[in-house]
Amino acid sequence: MKCDPSLYRAAPPSLAVKPRLIRHLFLPPLVIALMIGLGYIGFWVSEHYGIRSLSENGQRQLELHARAVESEISKYTYLPSLLELESSVSKLLADPSPEHRQTVNEYLEGLNRRSRSRAIYVMDTTGRVMATSNWRDVDSYLGEDLSFRAYFQNAVRGQPGRFYGIGSTNGEPGYYLAHGLEEHGKIIGVAVVKVRLEAMEERWQRARLEAFVSDENGIIILSSDPARRLKSVVPLSDETKEKLARSLQYYWFPLNELQPLAREQLAEGEEKLTFPANSELVSDEENISYLSQTRPLSDTPWNFTLLTPLQDLRREAINQGILVAVAFALVAFLLIAWNERRKVIATRLAAREALQEANNQLERRITERTTDLRASNERLKGQIRERRLAEETLRRAQDELVQAGKLAAIGQMSTSIAHELNQPLAALRTLSGNTVRFLERGQLDVASTNLKTINELIDRMGRITASLRSFARRGDDKGQASLCKAVDAALQLLCGRVESAHLQLHRDFADPQVQIDQTRLEQILVNLIGNALDAMQAQPLPELWLEGEEFNGKYRLRVRDNGHGIDAEARKHLFEPFFTTKPGEQGLGLGLTLSASLAAATGGHLGVEHPASGGTTFVLSLPLVSPTHAEPI
Ligand code: ADP
Repeated sequence: MKCDPSLYRAAPPSLAVKPRLIRHLFLPPLVIALMIGLGYIGFWVSEHYGIRSLSENGQRQLELHARAVESEISKYTYLPSLLELESSVSKLLADPSPEHRQTVNEYLEGLNRRSRSRAIYVMDTTGRVMATSNWRDVDSYLGEDLSFRAYFQNAVRGQPGRFYGIGSTNGEPGYYLAHGLEEHGKIIGVAVVKVRLEAMEERWQRARLEAFVSDENGIIILSSDPARRLKSVVPLSDETKEKLARSLQYYWFPLNELQPLAREQLAEGEEKLTFPANSELVSDEENISYLSQTRPLSDTPWNFTLLTPLQDLRREAINQGILVAVAFALVAFLLIAWNERRKVIATRLAAREALQEANNQLERRITERTTDLRASNERLKGQIRERRLAEETLRRAQDELVQAGKLAAIGQMSTSIAHELNQPLAALRTLSGNTVRFLERGQLDVASTNLKTINELIDRMGRITASLRSFARRGDDKGQASLCKAVDAALQLLCGRVESAHLQLHRDFADPQVQIDQTRLEQILVNLIGNALDAMQAQPLPELWLEGEEFNGKYRLRVRDNGHGIDAEARKHLFEPFFTTKPGEQGLGLGLTLSASLAAATGGHLGVEHPASGGTTFVLSLPLVSPTHAEPI
């Protein structure tokens, strides 16, 4: 089934192509940009909330470990003041004799052992060490002048001396707690306890905790990572550096700064610090970030800082960001695929609807055409019926005409027939009278001859009447005829006229079987030969040529005479019914009309030629029964 392409209403190119092109050009970069954007947002949100959660957890850890540091430090604060109660110490400060010194040395040694401190010693108001727990050691403080130490200067003024520093004698770091010893409201000396806080560092390391304690100068004095120790967490001015060097607080250690790559203040006492990868502090290749939480330690000017690494959090945030980006890409892909599929389905539906519409139209047209065709078929059938009816009527009319023509011919011929019959009848009368006389005379041989002649005459008369009967009989369209027999019969019918005209007949044709009723062929030939005889009445030497030939499955017989011919005006009306040039009762004008219609009824034809030599030639063509049977006479 063919469809009308005009039914598919496509969108105009300007509307259909451009948005598609724009979509294809801009959609992928847009999706990628959104993917990156959403991925970054996912990363940021994850990191933000991760840091918040770490911060809450870190605050608890910070509090816990800061308290532990505070309790470790405060453990020794009472110890120097205890020496105020010891009378041997007062005596030594009042009278620094070797005996008093030895007594105090031994006392301090015992006290130091019990308190697990690093060293305990007593100084006079000038800052000289009068007695010490490590009096037995080679690097004993005994006799040393430590008046330059800040803790001594504070204590001698009656203030508590808190000091973290590196020992000037043995270079050992320690926490110094100093107390001014009073007697009667007057400071007579200073008691100092030195403690080691490294145990805390070891505890942090065991707990895998990253933490440090920075002192009032911002110098890290305790750190879980030894590399950070004695680094400054705040920038130090040259003046401060010089002052610290003079006090020998940190011995001769270089006080480098612990400078992060990036520092981001998150809240009060909370920072995000990033240290470089190549830093000596970190072993990883990546830059390392920490959440740094700081809290001041009570009773000291120190700060405790807890560092929480952010790598895991960062890695997790990156994963979350990637997950968000991938999820978005997947959703975008699914949406695009769904949209494309929706469009394909819509296009298919539209095409199907168009096809359905085209089919419906086609079917409507087919139905209309079928109805038209049926109507015209009915009309044609009606016309065929009418035509058959007309043909039937025509045939009947033709038959009637033929019959009428025959009767007319018989009427025409009646004079000659009467003449034909009267002649033998007169001869018969004479012969029969003579025969009676010859019998009476006994001339039997003459009588016998006469009787034979009478017989011949009777036969001839019988033939004449038989011809007339067969001529008058109705024929039909079908049947076969012998041309020779038909010519003989026609000449027999017209023999009276033929003889009286002294016609010279030329026969030059075969004896084919032609497809026409024998009687009808005879009738045609009677008409043609009769007309020729009429036309040759004035001709002193009338001649008639009957010439035949086979041509294209038909047999063509030419009936040519040397009569007066036909004038130009008469030629136009020759085959019209009742056209005649013959005077009075002689012509009816039906002969040629009937002959032509009889020939046509069997598939043949009757035509006329006008030879230049004069006369007229009628050409009768009739279909052969079997063309091969034609034989020359
Ligand atoms: P009818 O013989 O009764 O006149 P036809 O139909 O047979 O009717 O002939 C029509 C006319 O054709 C004749 O009147 C005659 O004038 C002309 N005609 C027919 N045959 C010949 C012929 N062989 N030679 C000259 N004229 C002819």
